[in-house]
Amino acid sequence: MQYRRFGKTNLSLSVFSLGTMRYLGSKEVAQQTISLAVELGINHIETARGYGSSEEHLGGAIASGSVSRDQVYITTKIPPTPDATSMRRYINESLERLNLDYLDCLGIHGLNTWEHLDWVKAEDGCMHAVQEAVIDGRVRHVGFSTHGSLELILAAINTDLFEFVNIHYYYFFQRHAAAIERALEKDMGIFIISPADKGGKLYTAPSKLQEICHPFTPLELNYRFLLSNSRITTLSVGPATPEELIEPLRIADSVDKLTQDEIEALQRLENQLSLSLGADKCSQCYACLPCPENINIPEVLRLRNLAVAYDMTDYGQYRYGMFENAGHWFPGMKANKFTECGECLPKCPENLDIPTLLYDTHEQLKGKAGRRLWG
Ligand code: SF4
Repeated sequence: MQYRRFGKTNLSLSVFSLGTMRYLGSKEVAQQTISLAVELGINHIETARGYGSSEEHLGGAIASGSVSRDQVYITTKIPPTPDATSMRRYINESLERLNLDYLDCLGIHGLNTWEHLDWVKAEDGCMHAVQEAVIDGRVRHVGFSTHGSLELILAAINTDLFEFVNIHYYYFFQRHAAAIERALEKDMGIFIISPADKGGKLYTAPSKLQEICHPFTPLELNYRFLLSNSRITTLSVGPATPEELIEPLRIADSVDKLTQDEIEALQRLENQLSLSLGADKCSQCYACLPCPENINIPEVLRLRNLAVAYDMTDYGQYRYGMFENAGHWFPGMKANKFTECGECLPKCPENLDIPTLLYDTHEQLKGKAGRRLWG
């Protein structure tokens, strides 16, 4: 296991962090997974107020001695609140569930909207309680996680209230590269959310994608894409069972620059994208937004790009199904809500027939309604 400095927190974190979102149900599995993670060199465990029994299970593991407090850094996440009183109570409740005197890191969980940012910036808002907790030692470092737009993330980083950011950024979604750059200018730690699942459902990659990535697995290639960037501190890995830790951690020491073979595999992915989509390829420039019908056109067409180029239909259905079903965690209407207003058309530098592509994506990816895994 390799370790990297987590920005200005100056913590030295393992390049993989244990995310505890998925083992909500069983205390025993939670404790076994935590023990194995620590044995394999993970020193950062992440939970959240919103992850069901996850905080209690982690607190149980600490109380039982199956993980020693001084072996791990613990992050929990608490949603933004409009007032300091609720946040004050939430911090104390998390500490109690976790059996801890202090949190190494507290993340504002899901700073997803401009209203959340207003709460964070308000003098008597949630950060007032967070800063009190920093002063009296209940919290050592403060960051935020986000599913928001690039513009919102940049604005949150620019408040200078945070020491780290927990962000979506993967080979198949590089929109937030500019946020990572800005965070680095501020010497913030960079913590990547769920590269295996949100990054493309890569545990169950389609055979076409596997063939293009061969001799690497798609999961491995995505991890290497991230780990070869020394400015990224740590990637979350969220196993449902201890066994699911094994494959990701096989490459926990592979943090050097990309090899020639890896560069060629990534080039094959690029070539396939261009060849299979031809003139219908959405370049992800985001110039078509805002959409009057509140359709996240670039995200819909990103899912189409991946489904057409690599058969990532299952991933596309999973993410597309969250539109209209996951609130501010995955905002936007489904693509069939488009009208013929045509506002996006002159803005698209690729001259895409956006309404036709939206319709086609809806037909390919409409399926059952999705929801978040927790909450
Ligand atoms: S303007 Fe065109 S290329 Fe750019 S994100 Fe929108 S649809 Fe894609």
